[in-house]
Amino acid sequence: MTHPTLVRAIEVFGVDAQEDQAIEEFSELIKAIIKFRKSGRFNSMLRDELFEEIADAKIMIAQLQHIYECKGVVNGHIRYKLQKLKHKINLKEEYALEGEDGEE
Ligand SMILES: [Mg+2]
Repeated sequence: MTHPTLVRAIEVFGVDAQEDQAIEEFSELIKAIIKFRKSGRFNSMLRDELFEEIADAKIMIAQLQHIYECKGVVNGHIRYKLQKLKHKINLKEEYALEGEDGEE
């Protein structure tokens, strides 16, 4: 269930405004990741900013899922993509183990 405050935000500000807000928040998250990485990952102020942007992005994703009524479909994609990722990880680990065997 979408948090009632997020539903109200869509009702009060409108779909277009919330889509624009989502684009802006995702852009801010991208910039925060880049700044944190460039800082060497030790700057606590930039880390806190990054965490705040992750929160903003998650809030906007929840709103987009509500707007498009797609939470179930998205969850299906997530399950499928996690299986694909698991397969890639297994292949990578098998490849690494074969590499170790080759060194002997
Ligand atoms: Mg933000």
